[in-house]
Amino acid sequence: MKMDMLAGKPIREWISTFPVLEKIMELEPVFWVNSEYSNFTKFLESSLLVSKTQVNDAFKDFEIFSSYIAKAFSETKQAKGVIESDLTLIHSMKKSMENFWDINIPGQLYLKKDSHLAVSGSIKARGGFYEVLKYAQDLAYENGLFQTGDDVAIFHSREFKDFFSQYAIGVGSTGNLGLSIGIMGKSLGFKVYVHMSKDARQWKKDILRSIGVIVIEHRSDYSKAVEYGRKQADNDPNIYFVDDENSRNLFLGYSVAGQRLQAQLRKQNIRVDNTHPLFVYLPCGVGGAAGGITLGLKQVFKDNVHCFFAEPVHSPCVLLGLMTGAHDKISVQDVGIDNLTAADGLAVGRSSRFVGKIIENIVSGVYTLDDDDMFRLLAMLKQSEKIYMEPSALASMAGPVRLFQSLEGKLFIESLRLSSMMNKATHIVWGTGGSMVPKDIQKADNDRGERLLSTGR
Ligand SMILES: *Cc1c(COP(=O)(O)O)cnc(C)c1O
Repeated sequence: MKMDMLAGKPIREWISTFPVLEKIMELEPVFWVNSEYSNFTKFLESSLLVSKTQVNDAFKDFEIFSSYIAKAFSETKQAKGVIESDLTLIHSMKKSMENFWDINIPGQLYLKKDSHLAVSGSIKARGGFYEVLKYAQDLAYENGLFQTGDDVAIFHSREFKDFFSQYAIGVGSTGNLGLSIGIMGKSLGFKVYVHMSKDARQWKKDILRSIGVIVIEHRSDYSKAVEYGRKQADNDPNIYFVDDENSRNLFLGYSVAGQRLQAQLRKQNIRVDNTHPLFVYLPCGVGGAAGGITLGLKQVFKDNVHCFFAEPVHSPCVLLGLMTGAHDKISVQDVGIDNLTAADGLAVGRSSRFVGKIIENIVSGVYTLDDDDMFRLLAMLKQSEKIYMEPSALASMAGPVRLFQSLEGKLFIESLRLSSMMNKATHIVWGTGGSMVPKDIQKADNDRGERLLSTGR
């Protein structure tokens, strides 16, 4: 394939401006520090497309929605319908990584277990559930069935199910977003269409079909699946399309994690301030989940939190979008990369402009890793902590290794004068999915990781 031009400029020119592009094109793992990063000032905050007030409102909405969730999903009863994950110290995992890569990771290492979120077993329970519940509430308002102050628990009734069954929700997904939208949508009574990309796993389609979701399989990648879904909804006014690339509500659902994490850190006596830096590593597909959480964290911790995104070397779309500033105008295919990875949740070739514009000054950097490292980390986590996560979720785990291993990472720490504080740092790797993966697939993933581990790095 001949690739001369890229977003209107010769590729040679791009490479001379961003030398790291050559490595990216050769599928070498990179650690890229965002040169457009700015301090999180009031001015910057107020220039963003999503405001603190909107995030606060979403936080309150979730409190309101919890009464429905508790009623509809008995597993959440004890938590009173609040779907939130544990923050777990993974000290043995840290030791294993230090030994394997022969490095020192100063500070404490925690796992944020969105991999084990109730009801849908992935980070998509945040954004996906919020968007569906918000839509249901809006419909009920508009049709005079619900007023401010009413208890949304009444949605858990034959009457409301019949009402919602007149409406449909559509979504394009690599799998987990479809699962979240499908599970919440069907629980409320909606008709749900999920457009699955070719990367989507069979078991995810099976679960969805078993609960009455209409799964439409596409032989193309995620971006096309979204496009098909959008087109279907454009032609049918009764379909509400959950647009992973453009949805504010989805993004807000993720952002709520910032305030939730703040409360959790306080409870566990973990300090974050200007002598106790917080590093957060987030697996990134189209950028919505990672971006929403980053905004939520920045609003709470300002310059004391440093967020890094993780992408497969075969799908570095957010890295390309941020580095060139072209966002959705550039795809990994444009630079000859195939978007083929075992990390199905991250198999996205083109990033979201909506998200890209929000995060371009607040994300600290992006690193890439190959699938083998994800599987190595998967088996290592199982061995050291007895926790299984899906391959995508392990992309975050490489973060602390890469921060202390790469020259770019070391320079980042030095440039912010953080070196002397690193032993008081907290590292949080965001585990994004896994608890719903069938046991036989968990075993196959783990076997693959163990084989790789036994042959060294
Ligand atoms: C969706 C997903 C991500 C990334 O989320 P984006 O919103 O696409 O950036 C990461 N890990 C898993 C397991 C996911 O399902």
